[in-house]
Amino acid sequence: MENRVALITGASRGIGRATALRLSKAGFRIVVASPEVENNEKVAEEIRAAGGSAMTLDFDVSSIDSIKQGVAAALKEFGRIDALVNNAGITRDGLAMRMKPEDWQLVLQINLSGAFYTTQQVLPGMLRERWGRIVNIASVVGQMGNAGQANYVSSKAGLIGLTKALAQEVASRSITVNAVAPGFIETDMTAKLPQEVKDRMLAAVALKRFGQPEDIANAVNFLVSAEAAYITGHVINVNGGMYM
Ligand code: NAP
Repeated sequence: MENRVALITGASRGIGRATALRLSKAGFRIVVASPEVENNEKVAEEIRAAGGSAMTLDFDVSSIDSIKQGVAAALKEFGRIDALVNNAGITRDGLAMRMKPEDWQLVLQINLSGAFYTTQQVLPGMLRERWGRIVNIASVVGQMGNAGQANYVSSKAGLIGLTKALAQEVASRSITVNAVAPGFIETDMTAKLPQEVKDRMLAAVALKRFGQPEDIANAVNFLVSAEAAYITGHVINVNGGMYM
């Protein structure tokens, strides 16, 4: 695994950052890709301080141009991308009746289209190499639904569909495509939720605690490893038993 390269979108903080650190520990050179340039650099510094190798990209998955330029820059620097983690994601919550078109579109654009267009740019190299790992970060709500998140839930259910379609297209080249569906993980994304929502969520978690970014990073680390070669088109639930 030593020379392998992993590109992780939304790696400036939260689950993406934890995944970047975990895959670096596993021997991947890391491409830290998010629009937050300063935070990207902090994550890259953490990786280098621990003896790993990392580069940063100003990478906005809502822009096809940004994706194309970013992937080209990563290939120029590292020569290859063996693993892609489509992790970038946002929420713009609200009841469907009142949801603004821009909130619907932006969430779909970043969470679903962003993953698709990034995958399109990374795939040719994987197809040539006849090896690759793609992991899409979905969500428990993409499986069970959630009131007030029609846009986000649709994007995450879409990611699960994309995972299965793509897995069938590229399996013959030893490229696996899987999803990880986190439950409630303590990051900036969930920190902003009202306490009553957090309490309701916690009551639904069988393990009676929220997850940490590292819980997701560990699942991703398994899926990108050589040991997971016979797993494709699958969704791993990392949700503390919130949904079974
Ligand atoms: P977070 O702490 O809010 O981090 C989101 C990351 O996505 C940041 O790095 C952010 O970059 C990046 N991002 C936002 N817009 C982007 C864009 N246009 N292009 C590229 N990157 C962009 O969120 P998180 O909790 O770690 O979530 C990571 C993923 O896990 C998301 O897909 C989320 O839907 C999913 N997830 C999270 C939970 C949870 O409970 N936390 C549960 C299920 C699924 P900047 O720093 O530049 O803004």
